[in-house]
Amino acid sequence: MQAGKLHWVVTLNRRNRSLFFALGLSALGAHLAYLQAGPLMWTLLLLQLLVYPQLVYWRAARAADPLRAELQNLLVDGVLLGAWSAVWGLPLWISFMLFVGVCINVVIFMGIPSLWKGVVAMLAGVGLVAAVHGLEFRPHTELHTSLLCIVLLTAYLLIVANDAYQRGVKLRDSRHELGQRLAQITRLQSQLQEQAERDPLTGLHNRRFLDDALERELAACAQTGAPLALVLIDIDRFKRINDTYGHPAGDEMIRRLADLLRDRVRDGGLIACRYGGEEFLLMLPGTTVDEAMAMAEELRTTFASLEVVSGGQAMRTTLSIGVAGCPEHGDAAQRLVLRADQALYEAKLRGRNQVVRASELREVSHPLASPA
Ligand code: GH3
Ligand code: MG
Ligand code: MG
Repeated sequence: MQAGKLHWVVTLNRRNRSLFFALGLSALGAHLAYLQAGPLMWTLLLLQLLVYPQLVYWRAARAADPLRAELQNLLVDGVLLGAWSAVWGLPLWISFMLFVGVCINVVIFMGIPSLWKGVVAMLAGVGLVAAVHGLEFRPHTELHTSLLCIVLLTAYLLIVANDAYQRGVKLRDSRHELGQRLAQITRLQSQLQEQAERDPLTGLHNRRFLDDALERELAACAQTGAPLALVLIDIDRFKRINDTYGHPAGDEMIRRLADLLRDRVRDGGLIACRYGGEEFLLMLPGTTVDEAMAMAEELRTTFASLEVVSGGQAMRTTLSIGVAGCPEHGDAAQRLVLRADQALYEAKLRGRNQVVRASELREVSHPLASPA
């Protein structure tokens, strides 16, 4: 298995273990020299400090569950280092250095709650030696060894602390980057949402947005008893504008009307939407049908006197408008829109360029009309 695919605990611990064991070589070697140990002990120590870390890494790397194998390796470390301490009679500085090394590695990879496992593993190593060989207590270490243990332990602690610091910095940086990406995604999301709810020609809300908004507003009106008016607007004889002046000119007229509507819905909660080709709908929460009629009339006269210029040609036309409102003409969205549509149709029937209130309707005036 390649190191790149291994669990990070396995690869990181290979480095930590190899480093700790290699650093320990000089202190343990100094102690062996002090003990005037023979070649067998030296060989065993070199095997332990230089070959063993690679062997256990190899074992974890080949295991079906490398993480589990590596966590077991940590405890094997503890048993073996405990055994080494016991073989030498628990020399104080060496035992302390090995103990701290085992504890740190266990805590780094298994957490404080597992610290006891490291301690028990070391004690097991000590117990094993005591059982086979008996335990002779010789805590003394000569000065060189003691100093080397202090220096090496300090070096190892600094390396581990620096690792933790570097990881903390990386974590902070990646959190920062993640935060920025999230903000960018949120921005794009709201842009997409905005685009999905807007009509590209006029920048007004589209019908999809209005349908949702109307349901929401009507529910709120039902609770508060506030009125709500709908003003449905259709440009008169618009086909003729397109046919006479061209489609771009028609577009310009649609945009100019949209501008007029936008001006009239600047205040709280009023919504103008492009409901269809040259059909627009104003949703006016908190507005009575009378107020909406007045607004529609003002809009009609303003538009009628508006000269739209496109491609050097001036055009004029008029608006037909139907007005319906809640609670006067119903309180369900579909029904209210239908009533406004019926009123608009009536305005067309009456000769266009006028505003009709839903309650003025002759019944069955609209082909889509359903019984009230
Ligand atoms: P009426 O007075 O009965 O409303 O007559 P009208 O000519 O306006 O009739 P109708 O509503 O059927 O025609 C709408 C026309 O609007 C048909 C379509 O080609 C045109 N139209 C729809 N969308 C657009 C658009 O985005 N730009 C332009 N230029 N024309 C459009
Ligand atoms: Mg139309
Ligand atoms: Mg029309």
